Amino acid sequence: MKILIIIIALLAVVWFVLLRPGLKSSTHKSKELPSETMQECCVCGVFASQKDGIRQGGKFFCSKECKAKA
Ligand SMILES: [Zn+2]
Repeated sequence: MKILIIIIALLAVVWFVLLRPGLKSSTHKSKELPSETMQECCVCGVFASQKDGIRQGGKFFCSKECKAKA
């Protein structure tokens, strides 16, 4: 009888471990969305994603060239 309980416990652990990656990736996906936010360049007015642009002194630049102009 004890062996049956151990097998059920092991299956529960395996099932839990297999289910977890799916839950993790779904929370990671929703976390990635804010980084795709577009922001206007303060020099040329072009919208660039905050991930690609440069942020300095509270201002946002779409590229190194625009940052040099400012
Ligand atoms: Zn620019």
